[in-house]
Amino acid sequence: MSVAARRRVRARVEGTVQGVGFRPFVFRLARELGLAGWVQNDQLGVLVEVEGEEGAVGRFLERLAAEAPPLARVERITAEEVESQGERGFSILASERQGTPEALVSPDTATCDDCVRELLDPSDRRYRYPFINCTTCGPRFTIVRGVPYDRPLTTMAGFTMCAACRAEYEDPLDRRFHAQPNACPACGPSLSLVTARGGVLDARDPLSAAAEGLEDGLIVAVKGIGGYHLACRADVEPVVAALRGRKQREDKPFALMAPDADAARALVDLSPTEEDLLGGRERPIVIARRRADAVVAPSVAPLSPDLGVMLPYSPLHHLLLREVGRPLVMTSGNVSDEPIAYEDRDAVARLDAIADLFVRHDRPIQTRTDDSVLRSIAGRRTPLMLRRSRGYVPDSLALPLEAPPLVAGGAELKNTFCLAKGRRAWVGPHIGDLRNWETLRSFREGVAHFERLFAIAPRVFAHDTHPDYLSTREALEREDVETIAVQHHHAHLAACLAEHGELGPAVGAIYDGTGYGSDGTVWGGELLVGGLAGFDRAGLLWPVRMPGGERAITEPWRMACSWLAAASGDGSDPDPTRHLAPLIDARLWGPVRELARGGMASPSTSSMGRLFDAVAALCGVRARVNYEGQAAAELEALCDRRERGTYPLPLATERPDGPLLFDARATVAALVADLAGGADPARAGARFHNAVADATAAACVRLAGERGLEVAVLSGGVFQNRLLLERTTERLAGAGLRVLVPERLPPNDGGISYGQAAVAAARG
Ligand code: ZN
Ligand code: ZN
Ligand code: FE
Repeated sequence: MSVAARRRVRARVEGTVQGVGFRPFVFRLARELGLAGWVQNDQLGVLVEVEGEEGAVGRFLERLAAEAPPLARVERITAEEVESQGERGFSILASERQGTPEALVSPDTATCDDCVRELLDPSDRRYRYPFINCTTCGPRFTIVRGVPYDRPLTTMAGFTMCAACRAEYEDPLDRRFHAQPNACPACGPSLSLVTARGGVLDARDPLSAAAEGLEDGLIVAVKGIGGYHLACRADVEPVVAALRGRKQREDKPFALMAPDADAARALVDLSPTEEDLLGGRERPIVIARRRADAVVAPSVAPLSPDLGVMLPYSPLHHLLLREVGRPLVMTSGNVSDEPIAYEDRDAVARLDAIADLFVRHDRPIQTRTDDSVLRSIAGRRTPLMLRRSRGYVPDSLALPLEAPPLVAGGAELKNTFCLAKGRRAWVGPHIGDLRNWETLRSFREGVAHFERLFAIAPRVFAHDTHPDYLSTREALEREDVETIAVQHHHAHLAACLAEHGELGPAVGAIYDGTGYGSDGTVWGGELLVGGLAGFDRAGLLWPVRMPGGERAITEPWRMACSWLAAASGDGSDPDPTRHLAPLIDARLWGPVRELARGGMASPSTSSMGRLFDAVAALCGVRARVNYEGQAAAELEALCDRRERGTYPLPLATERPDGPLLFDARATVAALVADLAGGADPARAGARFHNAVADATAAACVRLAGERGLEVAVLSGGVFQNRLLLERTTERLAGAGLRVLVPERLPPNDGGISYGQAAVAAARG
């Protein structure tokens, strides 16, 4: 080889490139091409220098991005020429630990096919070892304590690799080269079986003992990747009912874990998209239509036509589900609405009244991370994200403009936080309802962890305008930051625009249950025109009272009462016994009707979620709910999707320059008359959905025309309703508008923090 033809290049690779097998990939590629040099993890990602024959260096750079390992997300490669050193051989250098960490930690990833094969191979040294993993699979985010992602900075630090594991770990040609959680039965974590009182049982094979317990109808707490699950047989009603009773959860559906794809197909009808989601490396819970012949106890998902199903994602799950041989309920290890338990002591303390047995292990979980939940949407490639957590966090999202280092506190329900810097944002795991000490602690610890992980020292704290949210108080108490208040529905609009890389302006229909409005009233059925920097309230749902305030949220019949009172504009007394019997006690009616007409502690609201509640009550779905969104979800489930009829929902204006008003009084009056005439509630409910979709599209088209806009945004928790989302999208697209809906983040309040970050960036 002539000296002139020799070339040395230094390449920097940015993105999610640590802990995903990138260095061994580089090593193998360099060796294959006969190149010398080195590769190294550092705070910015991966740094590589290669030297050798000119053509080979060129091919190396081409293949560096094109053939990156499956878990890597390469965002940028920059290369510069450096002086040849006549180096021989290629090596992997130890990680650099100075400077600012910016390298990205990857999410937890489902056990890969190779590892499952070894797990089930009696001749393999990891046969039935519940902690098998490799460079392309296993826990990541949930075990990371700091960056760079190396074993000493994970919860595996306490385990010393045996000679065999170390040999794999150090061999660049091995599947486990630098797999940080690498372990085997001789040197790694192990399972134990613990009773509810905390005593360790002497089981030779804790896994088989747990499987037997499950078979016999016990409720077993299983320590997973991001926390504890409560597991039990899904096909025995008294067992599932007992779990429901002990967990104090009345109706909210339980998720199921099926042993494999065939078993999942026996539970729910799956489209090809849904099958892909189910088997994807993120392994979310996929909500799909339940099969009529699904062998599932009624208490698994009472009143729901759907089931939430997932597949095993850790080796422990694979072994357990295989041994039990049938689907299990796998629900979060918590009581009622508390956050999922993830620390061993806390789990026993909190779950001992629920679980009969605990399957525990000694690999600590650093960050609590719930299962993610998705639902597919007809005619859309991307599903609707209902909860973004395990498998997705901490993947970053781009921002369409530069952000100062900031933290955004999110909303109160379904809270997430978000950190951002430059053009990148990291949305944290699902925290839950930020209403108690336990969730506030998760929030604080999560923010501090992300600040370290992504080297962000926030200068700005973006928060909701609601003065009583814990996240707002958190922002106002921190003295080292500038605070930026972001209106709730503006944050919904901004989140959807920003994830699509847009700044606006657009017209957004933002429908949810509750958000603090700029005028201090409760908003929730809003047409906003604007972009990241600001907005104008261009329309709203006709405001009515919430009789009894917060109680109207858990008692939809109160909203029905309020809407009936509003709809009978002549002051005549709507007859409750006709509309709501036998859902309510008629004696309650009078006092609540007085509240609806302007009584004490009955604030006015434009909430679309509350209108759906009212209609659900009027259709006889339910008078009271025991989880958020229940009435609307059951109304949607009831609807006859073939129904194309509709009700009037006129657009009014009170002042020529004032906002549009969706006058749903006419809609409610028509619905009530229809039902009184004997209409099937399934058809009445569908006509109501059609009316809201028609009116929403008409209003958006009108505003877009008046203001010269081409883009419509649909977001807010109400758009978790698939029927409404599909019908509204159809009509808007038919009218020639470009329709944006949330894809990478939920339309519910789980997306608020990212929206706040986007607004703060625009105002920064
Ligand atoms: Zn693997
Ligand atoms: Zn070992
Ligand atoms: Fe909201």
